[in-house]
Amino acid sequence: MKKLEKYGKLLKNVDLQKYNTYHLSASCEYLFFPKDVINLIESLKYLKNKKIPYFILGNGSNVILPSNCFKGVIIKLDNLTNVNINENIVNCEAGVLISHLVRECVNHDLKGLEWAIGIPGTVGACVFNNAGAYKSEIFDFIKNVTILNENFEIKKLDKKIIAHSYRNTMFKEVKKYVIISVELELMFGNKEKSNELIIDRAKRRVSTQPIFYPNAGSVFRNPEGLYVGKLIEDLGLKNYHINDAYISEKHANFIINKGKATYEDITKLIEIVKQKVKEEYNIDLVCEQEIIKW
Ligand SMILES: Cc1cc2nc3c(=O)[nH]c(=O)nc-3n(C[C@H](O)[C@H](O)[C@H](O)COP(=O)(O)OP(=O)(O)OC[C@H]3O[C@@H](n4cnc5c(N)ncnc54)[C@H](O)[C@@H]3O)c2cc1C
Repeated sequence: MKKLEKYGKLLKNVDLQKYNTYHLSASCEYLFFPKDVINLIESLKYLKNKKIPYFILGNGSNVILPSNCFKGVIIKLDNLTNVNINENIVNCEAGVLISHLVRECVNHDLKGLEWAIGIPGTVGACVFNNAGAYKSEIFDFIKNVTILNENFEIKKLDKKIIAHSYRNTMFKEVKKYVIISVELELMFGNKEKSNELIIDRAKRRVSTQPIFYPNAGSVFRNPEGLYVGKLIEDLGLKNYHINDAYISEKHANFIINKGKATYEDITKLIEIVKQKVKEEYNIDLVCEQEIIKW
């Protein structure tokens, strides 16, 4: 494992509580930050060769991490932070936080991404999930995505060949590619107007979402034409809890950690909500958050 140190920063026996927005207690044998794409490729080849398991973690804002220790290497792309803007074409590496990208674009008088302010995720994972809000999604603006394939070769995929839908993509379905960057096409706009929109979106989030408690965003995808938060609220489930994992009083499609919630508490709560929604409305809810098993 010493060899990985050549390719980036390597930490041993790491507590992952601060690396996931639910603040769940989780841990891994190794946490690794490759220096750049070339070093990422070398490290992935090394890990594959040695048959050492790895997992790419973004900002941990859409995952429910298990309590047991991950026997392998968690890779974080925090050093992949290049943003290149040429006219209205934006190239952005996977490790950039989407809120940072929004501000960069607005500073260049480019509009289109304001809806993403307040999403605490990386650009790589936003592409992976087709993140969206307020009737927009990142695939509305994507031209192509650069990935590492199963053999760790760099490939540029045109948007046309990337299957995607509401909060879903083929990257999420197959989980075999590493997203390293994305090219977006935005519209020419005006800083002041974009900033007004950003303030409006941020205010809406503060007034409707329980952002002052640890959470991982919406728990379930909205069934077509319906708001899942309303369905859950109508079942009287606001404040329903398992130990410290609560259905938020503010927004019933959020689970919040009021202290020491665990993976088991949150996943049990999710199952109960799914079951009650099925019984009452005959709807099969799909979880938007990723329940990780390792
Ligand atoms: C308060 C709050 C509000 C939110 N609001 C929204 C919202 O409005 N809209 C929305 O869509 N989401 C929202 N989310 C959810 C979340 O922020 C997004 O899903 C985001 O895309 C996750 O980014 P992340 O970097 O934290 O990913 P993580 O949770 O770290 O990872 C998610 C998945 O992506 C994979 N992944 C990460 N990076 C890569 C990569 N480079 N290549 C391949 N796979 C990768 C991981 O392996 C994992 O499977 C919200 C979350 C919170 C906490």
